[in-house]
Amino acid sequence: MIPFNTPPVTGEETYYIQEALANGKLSGDGPFTKACQTWLEETFKTTKAYLTPSCTHALEMAAMLVEIEPGDEVIMPSYTFVSTANAFVLRGAQIVFVDIRPDTMNIDETKIEAAVTERTKAIVPVHYAGTACEMDTIMDIARRYNMYVIEDAAQGVMSTYKGRALGTIGDYGCFSFHDTKNYTSGEGGALLLNRSDKQEQAEIIREKGTNRSKFLRGQVDKYSWVDAGSSYLPAELNAAYLYAQFQHAEAINNDRLASWEMYAKELRPLEEDGLLELPKVPAACEHNAHMFFIKTAGIEERTALVEWLKEAGIATAFHYVPLHSSAAGRRFSRFHGTDRWTTRESERLLRLPMFYGLQQEQIEEITEQVRSFYK
Ligand SMILES: *Cc1c(COP(=O)(O)O)cnc(C)c1O
Repeated sequence: MIPFNTPPVTGEETYYIQEALANGKLSGDGPFTKACQTWLEETFKTTKAYLTPSCTHALEMAAMLVEIEPGDEVIMPSYTFVSTANAFVLRGAQIVFVDIRPDTMNIDETKIEAAVTERTKAIVPVHYAGTACEMDTIMDIARRYNMYVIEDAAQGVMSTYKGRALGTIGDYGCFSFHDTKNYTSGEGGALLLNRSDKQEQAEIIREKGTNRSKFLRGQVDKYSWVDAGSSYLPAELNAAYLYAQFQHAEAINNDRLASWEMYAKELRPLEEDGLLELPKVPAACEHNAHMFFIKTAGIEERTALVEWLKEAGIATAFHYVPLHSSAAGRRFSRFHGTDRWTTRESERLLRLPMFYGLQQEQIEEITEQVRSFYK
C-alpha cells in the first residue's frame, strides 16, 4: 500500500525532545519555542513570529488583531479549509466568497474589487498547494480601500512570490504545522507579524489577555489582566519536535520538489494527449511541492480513478466541499459573483501521494497505474 501522506520525520526529533525534557520546562515560550520563532524570523524575514497550537489559532489571533467586529465583511475564496472562514465567523464577521482561478485554484484577484463594500475589513488569500496568489494585485486593492491582508499560508511554508516568502507579504501570515503539512509538530502553527506596531497586542492576546510577556522581560514588576485574550502557546515538546524539522527544511523541500517534478514529467504525455490536467505554477511563484494534483474530466471519472488506484494499493485524496455550499457556509456567508470555477474544479481535482521520503519507484508505480487507467 502506498499511503497518501506520512508525516515527515528527520531522525533528530527524539534528541531535541529529550533536551526539552532535560530543560525541565514543558509549558510554552521556552528555549525551543524561541529557537523556532527566531528561525522563522530569520529564514523568512519577518518582523515577528509566534508559534501557536495550530494555523487555526494563528488565524484566530489575526482576526482579533485586525479587530473584526460583528457585521464586518471578510473576502476569501470558497475553495479552502473551514478554519480560514471560522476564525472570522467567531468574531461575528460575514464571509464574502469570490471565485477562484482554474489554473492555480487560488482566489481570482480580478474578482475581489467588485466584492468590496463599506464593511469590508480584510482579504484572506489562501496559497493553495503552496503556490502564491497574485499578491501585488491583492495588496494594491487592500491599500486603496484601507483593508488588512491576512495570508492563509498554511500550505505555503518555504514558498515564495517574486522572491518574498509567503506569509510575509500581507499584514499577517499564518502557517500550519499539522502533520499533513510539509513541516510538522503533530498539531502546530505560527503567526507572522509583518508590521511592527502590533507586537504588544499580539503578546497579550496570546498570553490569556495578560501582560505576562512584558513581565518575563522585566518590563513590569507584576502581570495582570489587561485585555481580552486566550491561550495560543504550544508546549515545548511540540516546539522541540518542530525544531528538528526546521533544521532539515531545505532537505525536506528539495525531496518534495524532486517528487513533484518526477510526477509532472511522467504525467505530461497524458496532459499533451488531452486526458488530464497538471498543476500550473505562474512564473512569479516558487512553490514548495505541498501537493501534487491532477484534474480529471469530471467527478465520475475522478471517482473511477480513485477506485482504480485504491485497487492497486494507492491512496489518494480530494478536498474542500466549497464552503459556500456547506450548511455553515449558507448561514455565515454569501458568494459574490458567479461560481464559475469553484465547484466545477473542486470536483475534478485529485491529489496523489506526496510526502517527504516518497520513493522514485513509488512514483513510477503510481504514474503507471494512472496511465493504465486512461488506457
Ligand atoms: C491545514 C490548513 C489550515 C488549518 O491548519 P491547522 O494547523 O490544522 O489549524 C488552514 N487553512 C488551510 C488552507 C490549510 O490547508
